[in-house]
Amino acid sequence: MKEKELPQSRNRRRFIKGITCALGTAALGAPLLSYGESLAGTRKPQNKKLGIALVGLGNYSTNQLAPALQETEKCYLAGVVTGSPPKAEEWKKKYSIPGRNIYSYDTYDQIKDNPDIDIIYVVLPNAMHAEYTIRAAEAGKHVICEKPMATSEEDCARMIEACKRNNRKLSVGYRLHFEPHNQRVMELGQQQVFGKVKKIDGAHSFVVSNDPDRWRLNKKLSGGGPLMDVGIYCVQAACYTTGETPVAVTAKFGEVTRPVYFDEVEQSVSWQLEFPGGAVANGSSSYNENKNFLYGEAEEGWWRLQPAYSYSGIEGRTSKGPMNYPQVNQQARQMDAFAECVLENRESRVPGEMGMRDVRILMAIYEAARTGKRVLI
Ligand code: NAD
Repeated sequence: MKEKELPQSRNRRRFIKGITCALGTAALGAPLLSYGESLAGTRKPQNKKLGIALVGLGNYSTNQLAPALQETEKCYLAGVVTGSPPKAEEWKKKYSIPGRNIYSYDTYDQIKDNPDIDIIYVVLPNAMHAEYTIRAAEAGKHVICEKPMATSEEDCARMIEACKRNNRKLSVGYRLHFEPHNQRVMELGQQQVFGKVKKIDGAHSFVVSNDPDRWRLNKKLSGGGPLMDVGIYCVQAACYTTGETPVAVTAKFGEVTRPVYFDEVEQSVSWQLEFPGGAVANGSSSYNENKNFLYGEAEEGWWRLQPAYSYSGIEGRTSKGPMNYPQVNQQARQMDAFAECVLENRESRVPGEMGMRDVRILMAIYEAARTGKRVLI
């Protein structure tokens, strides 16, 4: 059977059924359910989209999220939070955002009085995620927080607690859970379509620029180097291939060839994760080369995505032939799926607990690389 025929299989239908909440029925073409009193504090007319406010108007907000919000069906760009008055003016005009929905970091907490904003999307440097997520929850807003969820497991726990206490939903910006090739990898691994998974290899690296990405090289703001930024995708991929959380890790830092840039964070790191089902995942990440792939090997077959983690152009094959899935707007799907979870009072497929698990794994990788020891997770 050709690879492209497999998605129609009964296995796939069963798998999809199991993850429908997470994916959001929007992604699968089903209609929006009606809703009312029972929704966690959000009562909007059935046909009204939820309002999202982006916090931090850097690269990702500007070039990916705002354009994606022009394609979403369940949510729209209702507001922004920025420290830059010229940017506020530019966004106001470009996206017809009313002045009342534009906030600075000083006026951020006043967002609690704004019924136009249902969801706050935190797109700030990593070390700021915790504070802005917690303040969003205290303001009564649901939250999407970018990856990595925070720079410590303790911060993740505080974020989850704040959202729970305020009865708000929390989700992490893990867009690849809404991308068809990566979804197929989840299915191949978790459903053991080719038998038990034995080995996973993945790398995600890029050459970091000095400016304007300076915070990425500043440990206080980033929490770490390429591992925190893009290596996290390989860690995620290993977990969603197996459907498991690793039990142990060994790791080592790579050589520093550009000490002027890498005096605070690692230039590169590689690791090996051990999973309870017996799979082993080798990963690596660097700020000094370009790599982007995910490979999986099971008892009776293999699969490979390359590129695996990009915003578009993801391609894959398996031992049965080429994968043949559409290119989608990952961010639009991700935000629509979260809006559906809010509207239907369901948990996100990529909840805070998953973000916290991943930060725990990242910290264990750092500890293993620092100590040279095998670290239990
Ligand atoms: P960026 O540097 O382009 O933008 C960061 C924004 O934060 C800027 O608007 C900046 O003005 C603002 N900011 C506020 N306080 C700041 C401070 N003290 N120092 C520095 N900047 C400050 O970064 P980005 O690439 O947009 O990344 C933002 C977040 O989004 C990061 O957590 C990153 O990991 C995440 N991200 C996710 C994806 C994804 O595919 N999911 C892609 C890119 C970035």
